[in-house]
Amino acid sequence: MFTASRNRAPRPRRSPTPSGGAPPRRDSSAPPSRSPSPSSPGSKPLYLCSPFADAALVKGNFKTIVMLPKYCDIMEWVAVNIFDFYTNLNEFYGVIAERCTQHTCPTMSAGPSLNYVWTHQGGKQAMLPAPTYIDYVMTSIQNLIDDENVFPTKSSTFTLMSKSQTSLIDHPGPTDQAFHPSFPATVRTIYRQLLRVFAHIYHAHYPQILHLRSEPHFNSLFAHFLAFGREYELLEVRDIKGEPNAPVGVGLLWERWKEKGILEG
Ligand SMILES: [Zn+2]
Repeated sequence: MFTASRNRAPRPRRSPTPSGGAPPRRDSSAPPSRSPSPSSPGSKPLYLCSPFADAALVKGNFKTIVMLPKYCDIMEWVAVNIFDFYTNLNEFYGVIAERCTQHTCPTMSAGPSLNYVWTHQGGKQAMLPAPTYIDYVMTSIQNLIDDENVFPTKSSTFTLMSKSQTSLIDHPGPTDQAFHPSFPATVRTIYRQLLRVFAHIYHAHYPQILHLRSEPHFNSLFAHFLAFGREYELLEVRDIKGEPNAPVGVGLLWERWKEKGILEG
């Protein structure tokens, strides 16, 4: 899962092959997991408790994993990583999806006082059940990934690049003609939406992640996602932490991982 390997074959819709390390399937002999139980206000959610909060497949700091490899175009690097994050998160959500219904999750919750609102094309806003919201997110991202004008795969864009170029904005662009100028804005939108899916799973479905014993895998995927997002300025601190009156639950996980040196400050 930590290798960037964008699938260049025609991509299956909504059921992409994981690039490695699929989460374990539900063990049918195991007792049924508890129903989603978002923490009551005041109590600490499980994902912030030891040992779960620090369980990981990857030890140490994520900085080296997100660094732009030599000779790799920054746009291509961002594209392949987003494809991998999307694919892996889609796999995780697929495993827990039967527990994320209109009844268990009538809103796209991500904290005790935070429900994300979906904005339709044209600007109309709607409070959607989490499974509907997540379906809209994943379908729209799949459509963008499938769009050659947004995620070009036909011409190789691997070129000699200065290793110091780590900002999408500063990228001068003679080698990235295959990528549309709006690509940085598009990937920021994708990234924010993926963060919301992570945030909902942590907030509402962590017991199921624990039940599958997938917390080291899921934590590492999320820490990698956060490290990459901050390195390439795809996420604002505000996206991760939310507003003071409506904090994102996983904002505290981000703080904890920074304190532990897992993520950069
Ligand atoms: Zn849910």
